[in-house]
Order: sequence, then structure tokens, then C-alpha cells
Amino acid sequence: MLFKSTRSDSVVSFKEAILKGCPLDGGLFVPASVPDMRQFFLYMDSGTAYTELVSAISPSFLEGDVNPIAAARVAESAFDFEPEVQQLDEKFSVLKLYNGPTGVFKDFGIAFLAAILEELNNGKAMVLTAARHDTGVSIARAFRDRKNITAVILYPSGPIRGLDESAFVQNGGNIIPIQVKGCFDDCQRIVRSAMLDRGFAERYNITSANAVNVGRFLPQAFYYLYAFIKLKKNIADDLVFSVPCGNFGNLIAGLYAWKFGLPVHGFIAAMNINNSFGDFFSGRNFNPALTPIVTNSPAMDVCYPSNYERMFSFYQESPAVMKNMVFPEVIDDTTTVKTVRSAWEKFKILLNPHSAVAFAAAERVFIGKDNGAHCVALATGHPAKSAAFVSRITGQNIAIPQKLAMLKNTSKPIAVIPPELDAFESAIAAVAG
Ligand SMILES: *Cc1c(COP(=O)(O)O)cnc(C)c1O
Repeated sequence: MLFKSTRSDSVVSFKEAILKGCPLDGGLFVPASVPDMRQFFLYMDSGTAYTELVSAISPSFLEGDVNPIAAARVAESAFDFEPEVQQLDEKFSVLKLYNGPTGVFKDFGIAFLAAILEELNNGKAMVLTAARHDTGVSIARAFRDRKNITAVILYPSGPIRGLDESAFVQNGGNIIPIQVKGCFDDCQRIVRSAMLDRGFAERYNITSANAVNVGRFLPQAFYYLYAFIKLKKNIADDLVFSVPCGNFGNLIAGLYAWKFGLPVHGFIAAMNINNSFGDFFSGRNFNPALTPIVTNSPAMDVCYPSNYERMFSFYQESPAVMKNMVFPEVIDDTTTVKTVRSAWEKFKILLNPHSAVAFAAAERVFIGKDNGAHCVALATGHPAKSAAFVSRITGQNIAIPQKLAMLKNTSKPIAVIPPELDAFESAIAAVAG
């Protein structure tokens, strides 16, 4: 599969797209054309392991760069966790994506990117990423001990949690956490400037594992196919996925799964009240709010989605088709709380608030209406990540898995720097030579 920028038509390989991160024209990489992959997944039986599915599909992304044996090796080394599909009733299922090391679906994209980079990279590489909350942990876990790769994680001011210090460079590992005295945007700005500083970028062979990297974003399509394989025997209807959206990477990955040939009726774009982007789906002008409103699903408090140009490119190609493919829904905090409660009462399932937004949107659009569709709501976060919230609403004790309990431990960064590129480059030279 070849990739092009949302702003031009010259193409690059998957390998080049991952190693560059973003095209130099400021756009985002998207597939230049999408192969029909039905032959690889349509007839897989419901006992298929996630790694088998990934090994079968990923060689099509990587044509030429990786052979089927290497693809299997990548899948095995990326995933020691799987998505989980649970059918709740005749019309409704949940796709649980929170069994990875940090309990959020982002673990899936990050794990694949780390494994594929290790496979494709010849020579040394340094992966720079601005991170907050548990994304840094996900990166540190996925990149730990990857040969010839160093992972530099830039954190904004505040406590740094959940890292395993034995993986840090000074302890013989390959992880370098650096704290920037500033906010998350300062960290992102430093990553961008470092990638554009030719001398520095070439010296260390820099790439980024940020959320828009195609190596992280596109492999999220795999779990939509997986849900289909698991469910197809039991259901006669077309699938509709309800996706809790913030930067819209997850939803757009679903749209690519559809392009790969997944039989799907549509996608619900479930948003909290930060729904500026909803106007876009209705064909109105997109006027993003300037600052997000804080909600009880904070990972979705986004006004200007970083994947905006990817979504735009879909609509540019075929606006009429897209109108029947993506259904926007907005769920407020009160409804989120009610849904956490009703999902427990009705299905005995514990929902994280982000997942509850997807559930609520699915119920609003589908439940009780016979529209010939089976809805799959994506559960993107582990209920234990919002244990107090979920416990208060459901009255249940929420068991916290050991790996998630460890996310609370604080650790010290290797360096603390002012929010400037020079300071960052000196810090790297001091630890990485
Ligand atoms: C990041 C995140 C989202 C939003 O996903 P996008 O791909 O940015 O739309 C939803 N739920 C949880 C738990 C998240 O961490």
C-alpha cells in the first residue's frame, strides 16, 4: 500500500510514512489507494487469534518491505493482549479495547508501531513523542528493549507516573523521559522543531510516535475486522460501530476497515459536548471552539481534532456516500452517568465514562428500532481507570488490575529542561552522545 499527503499526490511507502511521521507539507499521510482485503479476513473463523489476523492483513500495508514471516513476527512481538468481543443481546455487542498495558485502546496502535519500527529500521533510530497521562507509559512499554531504538518521551510540568525506571538509559535501557517546564503544547512544539532541525534529525535518525503517525493510526483498523470475525456466525444484520471520538483517529481507522472490505452499515461518531466537529458531518462549516469544556470523558475534550484533514479527505472524495456512513451523536455528562448506571443494571457490564458515551449514542440511534443493524460499541478505557466514578454510580467495588495500579507510581525524569529546542538538544547530547 502506498501513502500520500492529504495536501499532495506524491506517494511514499508505508516504511517511509512511518519513519517520516508527517509529510513536510504540513498535511497528514493517508493511503493513496486501498486494496480489497476481503480474501484475508472474510472467511476466518471465530477462533482466530488477534495476532493471526494482524499477520494476515499487515503484509498488504507493507508490500515489499516485509514478508509474511516477518509480519507474523511483528504481530507476535506487538501483541500479548487481545481485543475482547462480548455480545450483550441480539442487537448489541461491545468491543473491549482496554486489555493492554495501560488500559486504553491507544495501546493497540502504539504496540504495533513499536514492533514494526524495530523490524523496518536499519541502523539506529530515536523516537520522540510528546506525551501526557498514560500515553507515555504505553510508549515506554511498547518500545522497551527494541533493538537499536531509543524512545524519548517529553512530559509537561507535573508528576510523571507509571514508568519503570529499570528501562531508563542510565540503567542500561532505551527509554529517556524528559520533563519540559511548560505545557503539553510546548512539548509538541519541541518535537516538531527537533524533527525539522535537519542536522539534529539526521544525527539521531529521528522519528515520532505521535498519534497521527500512520503506523499507529491505521493498525487500529485491525480490531474492527476482528469484531466482525468474532460476531459473524451469530448475527444476520449489518454491523454499525459506535466510536467514542476525540481526535477521531479511532473512527477514521474504522472507515479504512470499511474500505478494506469490512461489511459495515455505518459508524456512530459519539462525542461529548465538545462537539464542534459535529457540524462538519452535517455539511455545515466547521468552526472549532477555542477551548474545550471539561467533561467526565476528558480524553474526548477536543475542539480541533488532529485528524481533521484525514476526515476531510474522505468527504472530499465522496460526500454523498459519507453522509450515509457516519452518524454524529452528542452525549452530555448527565446521560453518560445514566448510561454507566443502566449498562450495569441491564447487562452487568462496567463502563468507563468514554465507553459510556459510545453506549449512550448507540442506544439513542439504534436500541428499540428495528433497522436491520447490529451495533458494536467500542469500550476504549478500562473501568478501573475511573474506578471512583464507576463505583459511585454503580455501587460496585471496582477491582484494579495490578498493571493499572502501577500507573500511579511516580518517577523522576532523566532531565528537566526549559521549553526550548536548544535545551532539549543539549539534554539529548548529554545522555545519548
Ligand atoms: C484517546 C481516547 C479516546 C478518543 O480517541 P480518538 O482516536 O482520539 O478519537 C476515547 N476514549 C479514550 C479512553 C481515549 O483514551
